[in-house]
Formats: sequence, structure tokens, C-alpha cells
Amino acid sequence: MEYKTIMCDVLVVGAGGAGCRAAIEASRHNLDVIMLSKELLGKAHTAMAEGGYNVSLGNVDPDDNPETHFKDTIVGGNYLNNQKLAKVLVDRAPQHIFDLEDMGAVFDRTPEGKIAQRVFGKQSWRRTAYASDRTGSEIMVTLTEAIRKTSVRVFDEVFATRLLVTNGKIAGVCAVDLKYGDYLVFRAKSVIMATGGAGRIFKVTSNAQLDVGDGYGMAYEAGCEMIDMEMVQFHPTGMVKPESARGRLVTEAVRGEGGILLNNQGERFMHRYYPAVMELAGRDQVARSIMTEVLEGRGSPSGGAYLSISHLPRSIIEFRLESMIEQFEDAGVDIRDEPMEVSPTAHHFMGGIKIDEDAATNIPGLFASGECTGGVHGGNRLGGNALADTQVFGAVSGESAANYARENPHLGVDREEITKEFGRLEAMLSRKEGVSPSDARAELTELMWEKVQIFRKEEEMQDAVNQLRRIEKEVVPKIKVDVPVKRFNPGWHQAMEFVHMVTTARMVAEAAVLRKGSRGAHYRVDADPNDNGYYNIVIKKDKDGKMVLRKEDLVITSITPP
Ligand SMILES: Cc1cc2nc3c(=O)[nH]c(=O)nc-3n(C[C@H](O)[C@H](O)[C@H](O)COP(=O)(O)OP(=O)(O)OC[C@H]3O[C@@H](n4cnc5c(N)ncnc54)[C@H](O)[C@@H]3O)c2cc1C
Repeated sequence: MEYKTIMCDVLVVGAGGAGCRAAIEASRHNLDVIMLSKELLGKAHTAMAEGGYNVSLGNVDPDDNPETHFKDTIVGGNYLNNQKLAKVLVDRAPQHIFDLEDMGAVFDRTPEGKIAQRVFGKQSWRRTAYASDRTGSEIMVTLTEAIRKTSVRVFDEVFATRLLVTNGKIAGVCAVDLKYGDYLVFRAKSVIMATGGAGRIFKVTSNAQLDVGDGYGMAYEAGCEMIDMEMVQFHPTGMVKPESARGRLVTEAVRGEGGILLNNQGERFMHRYYPAVMELAGRDQVARSIMTEVLEGRGSPSGGAYLSISHLPRSIIEFRLESMIEQFEDAGVDIRDEPMEVSPTAHHFMGGIKIDEDAATNIPGLFASGECTGGVHGGNRLGGNALADTQVFGAVSGESAANYARENPHLGVDREEITKEFGRLEAMLSRKEGVSPSDARAELTELMWEKVQIFRKEEEMQDAVNQLRRIEKEVVPKIKVDVPVKRFNPGWHQAMEFVHMVTTARMVAEAAVLRKGSRGAHYRVDADPNDNGYYNIVIKKDKDGKMVLRKEDLVITSITPP
């Protein structure tokens, strides 16, 4: 098996908001830094983020401060957050938005010329900084420009498939160059995982095509501890029509700017569920309210609700929700005059790789940041906190990985393990008979959408677990790519992703079964009233290859759950 070895000091896997920020930080330490991504530089999912970045600048509401931001984050997260991580988030969010400005990002301004801020759900003050409804795009353009001014070596369209661990410490990564089909081994003194979320394990999702959970799968296989994988956020407002756009996000900024939700009788139904906060209740709460309307026969024709903003001045809609106008124009709806039809969509992973305040995992030399990590957002992420997370923990992970690389040597890698890994990928191409990756993916995403969804039930989740165990045992080893070529072969990419999708889906479903009570985004219709849910669930692969789950005490520094 031929492969090429590439050496560096720090390797960053992922080039979204977190990966780019991590690479920039690591490169400031005069080290050889490489950043990998499955797609072309600048096209990562972060570019799709719309509404904004949470930061307690107090530009619009002067009483806001990091303490209130912290409290909102913990209460919003249903107290499951690691409070040490949440503290880092709120304390460093201001510094990193100014960093972005220094690199050239342009955020919307107040009349006095300060960064403008708007309100998102479950926030005490207007705290979300924004660039119209294209905040993620502004951040990605800025970061990719900044990357080009550093010595970071970018390997885009390169797919990492396996983490290499030697004597319990990180040693490198196996990867495939998607353009040429070449096998690559990156050897690094430290590695940062910044691989984003996994909304794509659900049939209906707001996430980019590539968000399938490779990072979760690789980290789990390497022996990382994973936390609260059952906590998947279903955003209440995804598009429902046309079918090709189903799940596409309708930003929370629409409700933040004053959008109201109506049922098929024209009633503003949030009165019934959360009268004090109405449409700005938590995302999990609004999603469940919409689905209750649907289940009780008051849903819109496509099984959702209407979201209307037409009562606002046209100038506000045109200035602050520009891309929403375009998005719905494509569907034949003018949101300035007509309501949008919306329903929930799988959106964000609050769970993920377990890290500490230095973004370190339990594997020495391996760090992680951004959506692939767990613990920052607890049981429910507040809108606007994820972009801040990418910048804050991106920088923390870059700094920590650089410090580690300065103090530690390259470790040897196991040739046999590498040959086995590339042999596994090769077999997907050479198999004579088997299951097509697209059929297998369709089965998995349908299963997760049907059985591990907004309203969860023991019986259904257990069925999902059983089916996922079967898929892992019987389907994964039989995945067969139709066209056996290596150069840019989407079928092969899908097959490589599928393995990680199964592992990720299993972690979500197994943890969901273990959590018997309702908490945060995990809502059971058959909740055990004796389980208050104030614990985290940690998953790890044991020595025999078994997925082991355990409950762990919450990390509390100042706010005790009620
Ligand atoms: C439509 C939408 C709108 C949103 N709007 C907001 C918002 O307004 N405010 C907010 O705070 N949050 C928002 N979010 C959430 C936020 O965008 C994400 O949580 C955040 O951008 C994730 O950034 P990241 O850097 O962790 O991952 P990503 O941006 O997803 O980047 C992951 C990177 O990892 C790479 N990668 C993955 N697997 C591999 C592999 N195997 N090999 C090599 N590379 C790999 C990918 O190629 C990519 O470069 C939104 C989410 C969605 C879906």
C-alpha cells in the first residue's frame, strides 16, 4: 500500500470558523502548521451561519456583561453545561470579536458607530452582533483572507479518516487526497479536531452536506471521551418547501426582529406555551410548541407553522434579513408581504468531544474546538453562542496545541495500522458485491429522523439502537462503491463518511436511551419523573471495542441547578 508522509508541528483537521481560528493562533508561535479540510478553503459550513455572534459588549443595552451572558448560557443550557467552559466562552467572546475586526470583518453598526447587537432567544439583553443575516460568511471571508497571510499550509479537499495514536498519545492522521485519490499520512506533534457537527445524520437538517460527524467517529475510535451526544438541537424554523430546500434554516433573527408564529387558524399560538417570552422561548421549546400544534391538527399544510414578519417596515426586512428575502424568493414567497411556512430541522450538536478549558481531550496532544466538542452549551445552545465558541475555543485550541508541540517530539506511527486503514478504504472500491453508500445513508438518516427525534420514546429509540448495531455489523463491512475510481469520486467519499455516520448515530441513540428523564433538547414523552437529568453522559470505547456509557457529575462553578 503506497502512501505519502507529510510532517508538521501542528495539524488542524477542519477549516471552518474554529479550524481557521485555531490555525491562525498556532501559526503565531512560529511553528509549521497544516490545516486540512474536505472542501475548498472558505466553503466550510460556518459560512452558512446567519444571525450572529453573542458577545456582551453592552453597545445597545449597557447593562449587559459577561456575568449575565454566563447566566443566560447556563440557564439556556438547562444547567448541563461545563461551567468552566462556559466561563471561558463569555469572558473571551469580546476579545475575539475585536480580533475579527482587526482582521477586517465588518459588522453592522449602531447610529453611534459601535457594533450593533440584536436579541436572540433566551437572552436577557440585545447581545448578538451581526453582519446583516450573513454573519458566518463575513467571518469566513475574513478568516480565509487572514490564513493566506500566514505560513499555514492548507490542504483542502483532503479527507481525514483515522487518528493515529502511539502509546496513548496523538501521533498523526491518515487521510485521502480527494482530488487525486492519493493516500496521505500526516505526522504531527499535536492535532486539533475542528470537524464541525453532524446534522446530516438526520433526514431533515439545516446543515451543510459535509456535516456528517467524521470528527465524532474518528475521535471515538481513537479512544476520546465523548459527552452528551444525545443533545441534538432541532431548530424550530426550517423551510418546508420546495422539497429540495426542506430543512434549510430560517434564521432566528427573523423572530429576533419581531417575527411571529401562527397556526392554521391564524392564532399566535406561542401564547399557549410560553406567554412571557413568546417566539423568543428556547429553540427546543419553540420546536416542541410547533410540533404540538401540528399533532393537534392546527399545523400548516406541509406539517409546520407560519412565520410572519410582514407587519414590520419593509426597510427593516430589506436591510436586516436580506438573504431570507432571497431564500424565499426562490420558493415563490415574498416575505415582505406573505408568511413563511416553517417546521423544525436538525441543527446543532451540543454534545461531542469532551474537552477542558485548554481545549485538551483525554488523549495527550489531541485538542478540539468548535461544534465537534461538547460541554460548552449544555442541553441547548443559545442562538449566537456557536460562532463565539468557534472563535474563542478555536484560539484556545491553537494556543494549547502550539504549546504542546513546542514541548513534545513527533512520535512513531504504526505501519501495520496505516496499511490496514488504507486497505479498508481500498476494499470499498474493490468489493464485487455489497450495499451502495447512498442507499445505506438514506436508511440511516430516515431511521434517526423517525426514531430519535424531537419527541422521544424508549421503544423507538431502543429500536434505533438495535438497527444501528445491525447496520454497524452487517452493512458497514459490505459498503461498495459503484464506480471504482479514486480521483474525485463522490460515491467513495460518501462511503468513507458513512462509517463515521453510523458511529455518531449510535452514540446519539445509545445516550438518548440511557437518559430516562427530559432535559434540554432531549425530550421524552415517557420521561421518568425520578430522573431530573442533572448529569452528563460520557461515552468511550473500551479495550474490547465496546461502546461504554457512564453518567458523570456536572461541572458546576457558580450556578447550582434548581
Ligand atoms: C444554517 C445555519 C446557520 C447558523 N447560524 C448561526 C448563527 O447565526 N450564529 C451562531 O452562533 N451559530 C450559528 N450556527 C451554528 C454554527 O454555524 C456552527 O456551529 C459553526 O459554524 C461550526 O463551526 P466549526 O468550525 O466547528 O465547523 P464547520 O464550519 O462545520 O467546519 C468543519 C470543518 O471540518 C472539516 N472536516 C470535517 N470532517 C473532516 C474530515 N474527515 N477530514 C477533513 N476535514 C473535515 C470540514 O471540511 C470543515 O472544513 C448556524 C448553523 C447552521 C446550520
